[in-house]
Amino acid sequence: MAIVGSVGSVASACRWFHGSRSRVCPMELFWHRRDLRVADNVGLAAAAERVDDGVASVFVFDDDVLAHASDVRVRRLLDGLAALRDDYRDRDSDLLLARGDPESILPELAGDLDADRVVWNRDYSGLARERDAGVRTALNDAGIDREAHHDAVLHTPDSIRTNAGDPYSVYSYYWKKWTDRETDPPAPTPEGSDLVDSDALAAAVESDDGALVDGGVTTDRVAVGCLPSPGELGFAEPDAEIGPAGTEAARDRLDEFLSEAVFAYDAERDYPAREATSRMSAFLKYGEIGVREAYAATERAMAAAENNTGERNEDGDGGPVAAVEEYQQQLAWREFYTQVLYHHPEVVTENYKQYEAGIEWRDDPEEIAAWKRGETGYPIVDAGMRQLRAEAFMHNRVRMVVASFLTKDLLADWRHGYDHFRERLVDHDTANDNGGWQWAASTGTDAQPYFRIFNPMTQGERYDPDAEYIKEHVPELRGLDADLIHEWHELSPTQRANAAPEYPAPIVDHSERREEALAMYKRARGEDPED
Ligand code: FAD
Repeated sequence: MAIVGSVGSVASACRWFHGSRSRVCPMELFWHRRDLRVADNVGLAAAAERVDDGVASVFVFDDDVLAHASDVRVRRLLDGLAALRDDYRDRDSDLLLARGDPESILPELAGDLDADRVVWNRDYSGLARERDAGVRTALNDAGIDREAHHDAVLHTPDSIRTNAGDPYSVYSYYWKKWTDRETDPPAPTPEGSDLVDSDALAAAVESDDGALVDGGVTTDRVAVGCLPSPGELGFAEPDAEIGPAGTEAARDRLDEFLSEAVFAYDAERDYPAREATSRMSAFLKYGEIGVREAYAATERAMAAAENNTGERNEDGDGGPVAAVEEYQQQLAWREFYTQVLYHHPEVVTENYKQYEAGIEWRDDPEEIAAWKRGETGYPIVDAGMRQLRAEAFMHNRVRMVVASFLTKDLLADWRHGYDHFRERLVDHDTANDNGGWQWAASTGTDAQPYFRIFNPMTQGERYDPDAEYIKEHVPELRGLDADLIHEWHELSPTQRANAAPEYPAPIVDHSERREEALAMYKRARGEDPED
């Protein structure tokens, strides 16, 4: 690994780091992964609290992880890293960047920096846990201490269990325990003086030929704050317009949401045209805001709701207090699926719920391709798939509708949908994405029963009555009345040709496919479809 001018001894390290302060070694190395923030970062705060010579922070572009990435997520990752680097620079420090295998990079970098310990926050997916085990062994072999913290969730996957000691598979029971537990306050934010300063970092990793500074991060190199382009990592710039990244953007968005929209969240959240949800998913996925900080902000919104309105509306439809609680419930869903993945890493590729005879998916490639393109002839489905293409995001209600359509109208294996979402969603999160798909396919924990099959026309009519969302994403239908759009499946070929000649006829008949889906699931359950 090319780390030139490395910190070879305790004495030289002490001279480089914050020379104006009287300092005592040691220093520590913090490894950022899915926690691209300085504030409310449990592992970073623990390291900063302990050391006297400051914390040096590194992000490693790991090719094994990049193998599962996509254009949109790499772009978003780089934006998040740029914001994180700026947060360090605002504190007179910087972010080290390396590319290669963390098992070799981290012990070497820690050795070169003379760091006593490598610290990180846990990631609960199977792949991440395997990687962490390898890094632990490598650090042990190098005689370097290490420490892993819980940070990504309010309540760790092992901490909420049934009275019998099992992990929960039913969300409502999980939620009761989740919401009754004490939560930690946000972790303290390190000061600039807690961090190794940028000059010292630059001196520690300066390259012979300056290639790192000018040319981005190359294999087995470490650079200070020098981000590669997507192309240098083997990815393309995405076509989709992805939103802002970083802690400041996350805080602005959450503040805006919690100042108003949250108080009507339960009533409004299902309407995709209304922008009534928080759009926090990518910020949470990349860890640009700490979950303790986000939750504390929802508690303040809850206090405001209680002060203004008392407990709940008398008409029983919830009111602001219930609306804030409904929002907190979504944060709990995120942790519910995290613990499902933690306890059952095999769900990434396998059904959580086993069907006795196995499900015989139809898997028609042309139908799946039409679904991906947003050309199924079902307006709400197509609007969702096109929002995904344009924004790398899709509203939750519409995710449920398109997932139901793929699995229960097209009778296609949920894994096709999961793979497509994984490639296209900027907020793709293994636990949540898998949880959402297996819920829709009736193969998951606490999933939609197999006989509950969304009707895509009535879903569109109910949740997008004026077809605003549909028209935004499906330009071919912009000139039509909402009624006509919601009746698209019932129009004759001539009526369709007159109304919107560019927009396709439905590729399948929902009523027929509904019957076929019921039969498919009954066979999978070992039942006679005729019963
Ligand atoms: P809000 O309604 O404002 O919710 C706040 C936060 O709670 C979200 O940002 C998210 O972190 C969490 N959350 C909300 N709903 C869920 C849920 N059902 N399950 C788990 N966490 C939830 N969410 C992802 O973060 N990543 C995914 O890859 C993902 N894939 C999905 C795939 C399918 C098929 C389905 C049905 C849902 C999926 N979801 C996923 C859940 C949900 O659709 C998104 O979290 C939500 O739409 C993000 O928008 P928001 O931040 O405005 O959500």
